[in-house]
Amino acid sequence: PEKVRFAPSPTGFFHVGSARTILYNWLIARKSGGSLMLRIDDTDEERNREEWVDGIYRAIEWLGLGWDDGPIRQSTRISHYQEIAFDLLRQGRAYWCDCTREAVEARKSPGTPPGYDGFCRDRGLSQGPGRALRFRVPDGDVVVNDLIRGEVVFPHGSIEDFVILKSSLAPLYVLANVVDDIDFAITTVLRAEEHLPTTPKAVLIHQALQSPLPQFGHLPVLVNEQRRKLSKRRDRVAVEDYRQLGYLPEPMVNYLALLGWNPGDDREFFNLDELIEAFSLERVGHSPAFFDEQRLLHFNKSYLANLSPQAFQEVARPFVTSLITLNDDGEERFIQIAAEVQTRIGTLSELPEMIGFLFEFSPDYGQLITKLRTDDVNYLTHTQRAIDDLSEFNEAEVEGCLRTLAVTLDTSLRKLQAPVRLAITGAPVGPPLFTSMAILGRDECSNRLKALLD
Ligand code: GLU
Repeated sequence: PEKVRFAPSPTGFFHVGSARTILYNWLIARKSGGSLMLRIDDTDEERNREEWVDGIYRAIEWLGLGWDDGPIRQSTRISHYQEIAFDLLRQGRAYWCDCTREAVEARKSPGTPPGYDGFCRDRGLSQGPGRALRFRVPDGDVVVNDLIRGEVVFPHGSIEDFVILKSSLAPLYVLANVVDDIDFAITTVLRAEEHLPTTPKAVLIHQALQSPLPQFGHLPVLVNEQRRKLSKRRDRVAVEDYRQLGYLPEPMVNYLALLGWNPGDDREFFNLDELIEAFSLERVGHSPAFFDEQRLLHFNKSYLANLSPQAFQEVARPFVTSLITLNDDGEERFIQIAAEVQTRIGTLSELPEMIGFLFEFSPDYGQLITKLRTDDVNYLTHTQRAIDDLSEFNEAEVEGCLRTLAVTLDTSLRKLQAPVRLAITGAPVGPPLFTSMAILGRDECSNRLKALLD
């Protein structure tokens, strides 16, 4: 059984990349019969906010995932990290350093490698103001055996003696993370690729603390259409935004699963149980994964189309509640139209515009009139009279009526429908017209036709 952890920093909206990271960790935990710990990496007081912590919980819940252990808050464990740092100091694995960045730079001759030069290594400084605690990096290359990238070698000299406690005694996150991974017996650390450069430091701290290494795996970076790393400024990255747009968690999870992992065949649709069954890290690649909103839309659309009518109504209702409640027949109308639009929409946020005319109708008539063609007034006049004369008013009757009328007026059904649709729905395209008319009822249809004629 694997013990994995998901360790977000609460510094902003929950990112789709984080969603993928927790999903893969969750899958490993479930697949191995192990457990997933949620750890909130909140040691950076300046950048953390409590509302982002809530955002993490909300996003995980929405995705339909969860955690087995925690949440652990790193901010509650600061003194423990400090103790471990002092242990390292006592063992000679760390030393105090009072060098400023400027002083380090000033000592360097051109061509020397970047980073700290080890000036204080053997000065034997004691703790004091302005002194940070640095880890003493031993000689030799550091080799990281990454589950996804294979062997990655960090040659000796490429890792500087790095700070583990600031002069304020605030622990650096690489120390805090290693201490927690040890304390909670984490077996696999699966996280974003951006953490690969700090992994050799983590390996060195593990070794200094004489703790067996967990396995490391770094997930491929997510890129946009231009093959650039997804960014808050350029791209839609917040899970919350997708939720508000009317994406559902199941297709989102399905899509995220395929960002880096592939099942080895051409299957694309998976629910969580099927993912647990099929998922393996061996099939996670290391090339950048294109976060393709169009493909996500395709997953969402298929998922919506395949819901039962009741399930669709349930997920759709929150997006149109304010419309439904405007009308005495609102609920009934909603149920009838839901069946018609279920297979037409990509996201639920398309609903208000698409079906709003059934609940609230105040089109810009000046605008609509400019869209009418020469014969349209005639078509509308006849249609209005014809529906007034119908003995029954339902979808089949309306359709029959308009078909007959098209023949009588020597035009096509399409040409006849166009102005009728404008009058009834206020738009040139929308859900099926006859059904919409049947839902609205004769009086309302008649009134809307008259309104456009007046
Ligand atoms: N707290 C880090 C982040 O949010 C993750 C660190 C880790 O997974 O080791 O990016």
